[in-house]
Amino acid sequence: MDRDQLVEHLRFAQELGVTGVSRDPAWRGREGGQPPPATIATAVQALVAVRNDIGDCTRCKLHGLGRKQIVFGVGNPDADLMFVGEAPGADEDIQGIPFVGRAGQLLTKIIEAIGLTRDDVYIANVIKCRPPQNRNPEPDEVETCQPFLFRQIDIIKPKVIVALGATAVRALTGASAPIVQLRGRPLTHASGAHIVVTYHPSAILRADQAGALQLRRALVQDLRLARKLTGLNE
Ligand code: URA
Repeated sequence: MDRDQLVEHLRFAQELGVTGVSRDPAWRGREGGQPPPATIATAVQALVAVRNDIGDCTRCKLHGLGRKQIVFGVGNPDADLMFVGEAPGADEDIQGIPFVGRAGQLLTKIIEAIGLTRDDVYIANVIKCRPPQNRNPEPDEVETCQPFLFRQIDIIKPKVIVALGATAVRALTGASAPIVQLRGRPLTHASGAHIVVTYHPSAILRADQAGALQLRRALVQDLRLARKLTGLNE
């Protein structure tokens, strides 16, 4: 890749919401220092290729059901920790960035509560288009879209994937047991990554005050476990 191509890739990557590609020495890459620029450039290039393959997608019916844009993913292309949610909501559909609405702001706070920032991690959804009225994604929509998530995982190669809620858990593990039964015991993804199962942050928003407190504690506990599994020191 020549310099112009690299600049173009980085510009497109920025549009895609890729972060963590700064030259700033304060940039926080994997433990042990920033990975070689070629590693990041390769990951960025591969993510750009996946986004290009998605194109202005019409593979499932969601393209005709009011979605404004595809919400690809955001964050550090070399992240040790990756979060997978369900599908974009209204705010994500407008901004083109996952987890920026109320549930996203909660997720951001919980990521910060374990000593990380959104720029340290990568965030994506099982499906890339907003379902109408935020209904659950339907099986054909998940089946059509999840290969793009799997390609994102293959490129980023996280050590740990946090599955947020039932749709992500099912897509990543095939398990359909309630979250309460699955959380606390990490599973293994086909890629070798640990999978930490936890509640979707929107469950906190739907719960009453006592329930919300309990769920928030559970999420922080699960994310602490995820952080520990990445090998990062407390
Ligand atoms: N809920 C999700 O599952 N993903 C988002 O991006 C936002 C809300």
